[in-house]
Amino acid sequence: LKSRKNVQLKKYNSLGVEALAAKMLFIQSEKDLLGIEELINPDRLFILGEGTNTLFSKDFEGSIVKVEIRGLEYKNVDENRCLATIGAGENWHQFVTDSLDKGLQGLENLSLIPGSVGAAPIQNIGAYGVEVSELIDFVEGYNLVDGRFEKFNRADCGFRYRSSMFKEQRRDQFIISRVGFSLNRNWSDLEASYKSLSTYLDQNGIKNPSPLQLSKAVVQIRKSKLPDPNKIGNAGSFFKNPVVNLKKFEELKKRFPGIPGFETEPGKVKLFAAWLIEQSGWKGKDLGKVGVHQDQALVLVNKGGAKGIEIYELSQKLKADIRKNFDILLEEEVRIL
Ligand SMILES: Cc1cc2nc3c(=O)[nH]c(=O)nc-3n(C[C@H](O)[C@H](O)[C@H](O)COP(=O)(O)OP(=O)(O)OC[C@H]3O[C@@H](n4cnc5c(N)ncnc54)[C@H](O)[C@@H]3O)c2cc1C
Repeated sequence: LKSRKNVQLKKYNSLGVEALAAKMLFIQSEKDLLGIEELINPDRLFILGEGTNTLFSKDFEGSIVKVEIRGLEYKNVDENRCLATIGAGENWHQFVTDSLDKGLQGLENLSLIPGSVGAAPIQNIGAYGVEVSELIDFVEGYNLVDGRFEKFNRADCGFRYRSSMFKEQRRDQFIISRVGFSLNRNWSDLEASYKSLSTYLDQNGIKNPSPLQLSKAVVQIRKSKLPDPNKIGNAGSFFKNPVVNLKKFEELKKRFPGIPGFETEPGKVKLFAAWLIEQSGWKGKDLGKVGVHQDQALVLVNKGGAKGIEIYELSQKLKADIRKNFDILLEEEVRIL
């Protein structure tokens, strides 16, 4: 098992902030996981993929377990379905592309989401009308509390909007090693109804897109809208979209007639955190070396050389303002350490 002490984390997080990890363990196979609970302090542990959804606000005194398990296998289940089993350390978008190149359908809407395969189930990544939980067959990993491997079927993973049991009850206790995806060998209806996606397809004269065409459209839209972490440090959406009850929504509407929201289930309305931030005057604003992206109010950026604590302080200022202006408490999507 490879391990190092006093590791600089700058290259391990997409916000590009500097922080030191007291110890870092590099997991390259399932064998490396056996007995790992003896080598770490479970109270000071963080499991790391590619660090695209993580903010290191200060040095990390404990152990970081970096998951680098590789490998990808496809197995036809029947004439319609194929099971892809893939190591948690593989890159998400490379997997999406590989599955599409093999003629398999399912992951196209989730193209170009940064990060590792192992992190995808954690917050049930989603984009353009699809959540990864719809495609997951199983999640396998190592339970640090009992020191044993466990395998969960999709129904047992507690998937919800941007969450799962791995993010909640099992947080920092379960190292995902491999994930199984159930993909389609034949496809008919694809999910192309998401507004910006259907507009893009219309504008480019694409009718009845193939999965590959849909993926290419998603990639183009994302590239035009989201800042590339390789160019400007960021972690994607910093906050989740808040959900309020209908009564609260009606009250808000009286004060802010233009407030957008849509009902996700009876009596519950999802609002747009980006809109709330923009209305509070933060879009495109800088605070020293950090700022709110000029096109994406939900994305906080490191303009170069910022410390993690500066990003954190900016996020707290946004939260305070949203609370003051709308009486809504934003919840972070990014994991803050
Ligand atoms: C530009 C940009 C755009 C983005 N767009 C989207 C989007 O459209 N939709 C979306 O859902 N997300 C989006 N994200 C967020 C991010 O891509 C996802 O959350 C991704 O799954 C994070 O992967 P990671 O490997 O970098 O995770 P990390 O940041 O390394 O970890 C994130 C969380 O997962 C846990 N974790 C990671 N690997 C494992 C493992 N093997 N076992 C157990 N726990 C683990 C960590 O402990 C942590 O809690 C975006 C991010 C960026 C920078």
